[in-house]
Amino acid sequence: MQRLGKNIDGYRGEGIEIQSVLEEVKVAAATHGWHRDSLVISSGAELVAYRKRNDSAKKRVYLSTGIHGDEPAGPLAILKLLQENYWPAHIDVWLCPCLNLTGFPLNKRETALGIDLNRDYRHFLSDETRAHVAWLKDQPNFDIAVCLHEDWEANGFYLYELNPDNRPSLAENIVRAVAQVCPIEGGDTVDGWPTKNGIIRPQVNPEERPQWPESIFLLTAKTRQAYTLESPSDFPIEIRVAAQVTAVRTVLNAI
Ligand SMILES: [Zn+2]
Repeated sequence: MQRLGKNIDGYRGEGIEIQSVLEEVKVAAATHGWHRDSLVISSGAELVAYRKRNDSAKKRVYLSTGIHGDEPAGPLAILKLLQENYWPAHIDVWLCPCLNLTGFPLNKRETALGIDLNRDYRHFLSDETRAHVAWLKDQPNFDIAVCLHEDWEANGFYLYELNPDNRPSLAENIVRAVAQVCPIEGGDTVDGWPTKNGIIRPQVNPEERPQWPESIFLLTAKTRQAYTLESPSDFPIEIRVAAQVTAVRTVLNAI
């Protein structure tokens, strides 16, 4: 499968009508019994989060996406997962379907105010991250956290694994499953990180990082195992959504 060749100096593919996607998310979540939390921020915008708890659940999974407004596959994948309603009974799920409401209408990475939210989880300059973290602090810790992203430069799907306690890794399982539906990044380095078979395992000391992405915050406060999924956004949107859905399903089935 070839790249589309649209992404010359950034993401140049299709955008999504984020409010209509979120309306569909709301309908699907209500249909299947999810609890909806509303996090209103000072601009009047409403960030939403959903929770689904089972009495017998033994594991907790957190999913988030839409933190970059030029990465539409994540919110679409969350919508698909909700509509298909396949959630193993032994897992409680928390999910944030879109963290950057103002970036999507502009089809750009940052918010309308120019903030890259995924660098704002140490100093919390934006209303969005402050509201999100306040909500997270009211939730229990998670066994696994998964953040859905896209990369406009990538030649295939790849992921970051943060797993400082060396728990059983899900990375190889995820890549193997995604390879059935989407090309895998074959490069030896991505964004300066050594990469092997589409897997990046950064050794990070959060204290040394001046800016934190969401995943680092999660690692310090909410979980000890986090995956950042990156679908290649120079490929057709259906392929990218399938990659994200497949990756999340693999996590749900494996824990
Ligand atoms: Zn991203």
